[in-house]
Amino acid sequence: MADGGVIVDSALDFAGAVAGTAAPPEVLADLRLVTVRYHGFDNLLHEGQLVVHRALAAEIREIFSLLENRGFPIAGAVPIVRYGWSDEASMAANNSSAFNYRLVAGTDRLSLHAQGRAVDINPRRNPVLYPDGRVAPAGAVYRAGEPGVFADGDAALRAFVDRGWRWGGHFTHVLDRHHFEKEV
Ligand SMILES: [Zn+2]
Repeated sequence: MADGGVIVDSALDFAGAVAGTAAPPEVLADLRLVTVRYHGFDNLLHEGQLVVHRALAAEIREIFSLLENRGFPIAGAVPIVRYGWSDEASMAANNSSAFNYRLVAGTDRLSLHAQGRAVDINPRRNPVLYPDGRVAPAGAVYRAGEPGVFADGDAALRAFVDRGWRWGGHFTHVLDRHHFEKEV
């Protein structure tokens, strides 16, 4: 789909973007559907959507506009409902997403994704590294300095960190390099 030279990757309405979630109404009330623009790995301008906590909506727009201006490519930003709420399927597709009412992988506590307070960007380029050496998504390789990859000190990482977001690449246990979160 093209609209004025922009490739539309996602054009859901709010109800469609949260359809089938297990989140309670008070959580849904705090969520907003944000439209973002980005350069794809095809060098074309794309438009996608993220479901985020309302307190972070303006910052997400600002950060994506910075990433666009700096030429940081994003493979796609489609609400995870399109992947049947499967983090694994979304990661495997290199999809960027935010809200998902789910637990932290391998634990019984709710992820900040469950409140729309965390966003995952280009997971195949920025895989998770577990202490046992496992990588998610499976088979992904982290190469600092390549397009769409976050690394310490780069402008794309600073777009988040300068606004008080924590980067999963700075976590001490699990290196979650595609993950950014901010508690509000
Ligand atoms: Zn995440």
